[in-house]
Amino acid sequence: MAKIHELPTVLADQIAAGEVVERPASVVKELVENAVDAHAKTIDVLVEEAGLKSIQVVDDGVGIADEDVEMAFSRHATSKITSREDLFRVHSLGFRGEALPSIASVADVWLKTATGKGAGSEVHIKGGEILTHTAAQSRPGTEVTVSDLFFNTPARLKYLKSPQTELANIVDIVDRLALGHPDVAFSLSHNGRELLRTAGRGDSQQVVAGIYGVQTARKMVAIENEDADFKLTGYVSLPELTRASRNYISILINGRYIKNYQLTKALIKGYGSKLMVGRYPIAVLNLTMDPFLVDVNVHPTKQEVRLSKEPELADLIDKAVYNRIARENLIPDAYQNL
Ligand code: ADP
Ligand code: MG
Repeated sequence: MAKIHELPTVLADQIAAGEVVERPASVVKELVENAVDAHAKTIDVLVEEAGLKSIQVVDDGVGIADEDVEMAFSRHATSKITSREDLFRVHSLGFRGEALPSIASVADVWLKTATGKGAGSEVHIKGGEILTHTAAQSRPGTEVTVSDLFFNTPARLKYLKSPQTELANIVDIVDRLALGHPDVAFSLSHNGRELLRTAGRGDSQQVVAGIYGVQTARKMVAIENEDADFKLTGYVSLPELTRASRNYISILINGRYIKNYQLTKALIKGYGSKLMVGRYPIAVLNLTMDPFLVDVNVHPTKQEVRLSKEPELADLIDKAVYNRIARENLIPDAYQNL
């Protein structure tokens, strides 16, 4: 008898979930990214018990048509790319078609959605199995509610950190997504308490103020720079306002929060000798470029990317910061009316 056989879909999804859904914050990230991709103008995130009891993401995006709604939960099913060429020009945050099936394989999920054309639908899926699929009245957009996360993967549950740490991770990811999309109105609440609200008016400084506080935002200055390939806009703190870790640096490429050591280093380099050793700025760098220049298909969570012209981009960041911070003599008055 042959020894090699294909794994059942639910099991394969659970294995994929190990990479995509590491903790409650991963669920939040994937659901919010889907809402952004659906062109939502408003995204509300409601979390109970650090996401272990429930995570709900409500958007006013394009919704999913009834005939597609079950397909959205099958692996490698996506509306975002179709060809090999698309893979090298990814314009959306998602494209792997892994998030919904992964989440549904390790949790209890209700998805309610409507496109504005025809009736809406509601699907209940738990542990990878579709339990119900009914017609449902709802306004255009999508509402996903995830509860009982990791109910069937006890090892994952055990590996989670304290509720405070898991909540901090959720706040962190929503903050970064809000920073990457100042034109979207975000809200985040935990156990009914509001932790973040942004206006969605396209004003990055307002988002920075919402996250780090008005006092902090006042001590940050706008930077910009561009060349033939890249455009940079952002806010960086004056050298007097620093933190003991790099966690307050957000780098976003085409709205995607990424981690990149070289670009972070370039930002710090731009400060010249104005930063004390072991101190880091608060910064938001919004970079736009042709998707062709950035390979996001490096890791399932897509936070690691490969840049084709990384040294050039690092230089662009370094110069923008240097020109604004290190070279200029700071005139405090100039920042009074920010
Ligand atoms: P991906 O985002 O990589 O395409 P997902 O598993 O996250 O894969 O989602 C599968 C598909 O379901 C998406 O391609 C999209 O068509 C649809 N979808 C998921 N969430 C939403 C949403 N909030 N609004 C509209 N469509 C959605
Ligand atoms: Mg997705």
